[in-house]
Amino acid sequence: MNVDISKILKVNGATLSFEIEKSIADVENYPDVCEFLSPVKVEGTVTNFEGDFLVEASGNTAVCMSCSRCLKPVKLEVKFGIKENFSNTGKEETETFLGDTIDLTSIVGRSILLSLPMKVVCDEDCKGLCPICGKDLNEGDCGCDTTNIDPRFESLRSLFKLDEEV
Ligand SMILES: [Zn+2]
Ligand SMILES: [Zn+2]
Repeated sequence: MNVDISKILKVNGATLSFEIEKSIADVENYPDVCEFLSPVKVEGTVTNFEGDFLVEASGNTAVCMSCSRCLKPVKLEVKFGIKENFSNTGKEETETFLGDTIDLTSIVGRSILLSLPMKVVCDEDCKGLCPICGKDLNEGDCGCDTTNIDPRFESLRSLFKLDEEV
C-alpha cells in the first residue's frame, strides 16, 4: 500500500491527497477473521512538515468473523482512522520510509486489528454450542447435562497461564 510522495518530498508545507485500494487474501495476521469480504480502501492526505510527513487518512473494509458462541460467520463493517508521522531520517517515535514512497501496509494492518471487536455474536440471543456434544443449541436442545460446566473456568485458567509466564 504505497503512497508516492515524490511531488512533496522537498516542498515544505505541501499536501498530497491519495486513495489506495487493496485486497487482502491472507488472513494469517488477523486471528479471528475468516475472510476479507471487500478490498481495504484508504483515503487521505500526506503533509510535509519540515521533512516529517504526516499521514491523515480514513479507511474501511468488511470482514467475516466467527460468532464467539456458535462459530457461524458474521459479516462486519470495519472503519478506521490513521494519524501517523513518517520520517526518512531514522528519528525515534516516527515510522520510517525510504526513498520517495511511504508504505502504509503495516499501519493499515495495525489499524484494522485495533478496530476489530474482541468478540462478535451472530445474534444477542445466540445460544451457542453445547460444550459436551457440540450441537448448535439455536437449532434445538440436545439434552446433555451441562450443570457442572462453568465457562468462566476457561478464562481463569488462561489468566493463570499468563501469570506464570511473567
Ligand atoms: Zn451465534
Ligand atoms: Zn449436547
